[in-house]
Amino acid sequence: MSLQFDHETLGQRVLFGSGEAAQNLAAEISRLDAKNVMVVAGDFELPMARQVAADIDVKVWHSNVVMHVPIETAEEARSVAKENDIDVVVCVGGGSTTGLAKAIAMTTALPIIAVPTTYAGSEATNVWGLTEAARKTTGVDNKVLPVTVIYDSALTMSLPVEMSVASGLNGLAHCIDSLWGPKADPINAAMAAEGIRALSAGLPKIVADAQDVDGRDEALYGAYLAAVSFASAGSGLHHKICHVLGGTFNLPHAQTHATVLPYVLAFNAPYAPQAEQRAAAAFGSATALEGLQQLRAQVGAPQRLSDYGFTAAGIPEAVEIILEKVPANNPRTVTEENLTALLTTALNGDDPATLN
Ligand code: NAD
Repeated sequence: MSLQFDHETLGQRVLFGSGEAAQNLAAEISRLDAKNVMVVAGDFELPMARQVAADIDVKVWHSNVVMHVPIETAEEARSVAKENDIDVVVCVGGGSTTGLAKAIAMTTALPIIAVPTTYAGSEATNVWGLTEAARKTTGVDNKVLPVTVIYDSALTMSLPVEMSVASGLNGLAHCIDSLWGPKADPINAAMAAEGIRALSAGLPKIVADAQDVDGRDEALYGAYLAAVSFASAGSGLHHKICHVLGGTFNLPHAQTHATVLPYVLAFNAPYAPQAEQRAAAAFGSATALEGLQQLRAQVGAPQRLSDYGFTAAGIPEAVEIILEKVPANNPRTVTEENLTALLTTALNGDDPATLN
């Protein structure tokens, strides 16, 4: 087998340990010799952030976190960082909170220590997102990649099961989409496959018992691998679709990913045999779709886009915008007709197998 690829590995320190976040954060603050620390955490995440920061001096707490990072909140947080002569930003929370810390780093180049509490995976990517005049823009900049990620599954115990499932399937979508993303390569695929294995092992344990440490650890570990493979492979068809559904139709991020994933998998799989086999093996099932559908049934995954406010009236506009963004190397040619069928099937929660 001849191999030829161009892979970039992003440099980041990862500290993983259940119940260890406070200790690991104090050690990192000392290693970075940080004096003026800003902690970013949404109102709901603030109590967790106070626990995590129990052993460090915090100069300023900042909790004005809004999903999809409106530019006004980014500018406010940047001013707070400047006024307080901040030298490190610590973010404790989900992807929205990490996103605000990234917005600060974009213009200040301040280092971020990320302490994620969902499976969104933003902490392991160099991708930023901002919303200005109701339009979400994203970009890639190594300045926004957190220097350190501190994973502590104890902080995820409070994530409701339903949100854990949606967020974990968002992680799984990173894995699957990276198998055919624009810069898919064997290194990404190795991480994505292990991510699929870990997430599909962890999520059923969380559903059975939300406090299961092993399940929570596996899901967090899988979410990290998912994000690393995704950051390297780039956005594939699945992410292009979900980005439009989230950005233009304001659908919730994790639930949208969780719902759309089987449809994109069914759509692309027959045209991407290597990716399909890799995912099937990682699920331990005969086909990738069978593995995903078994897992979805086991964890009670979100079923249809109509449950999240999407309607048939939005399909033509969504199709038009998505068609402009489809990656050139998507395994299957995407047309107005087959994309309309994909979105209609996902809207109604019909059997994805009808797409292949
Ligand atoms: P979120 O950060 O909006 O969190 C969802 C809800 O869960 C919030 O109300 C939050 O307060 C709550 N929550 C978080 N942790 C909790 C916990 N441990 N216990 C109880 N509740 C908790 O949602 P998300 O899915 O984590 O992130 C979505 C955002 O992240 C989107 O804006 C998305 O675009 C972005 N994102 C960016 C990247 C990237 O690489 N840049 C990757 C993935 C997601």
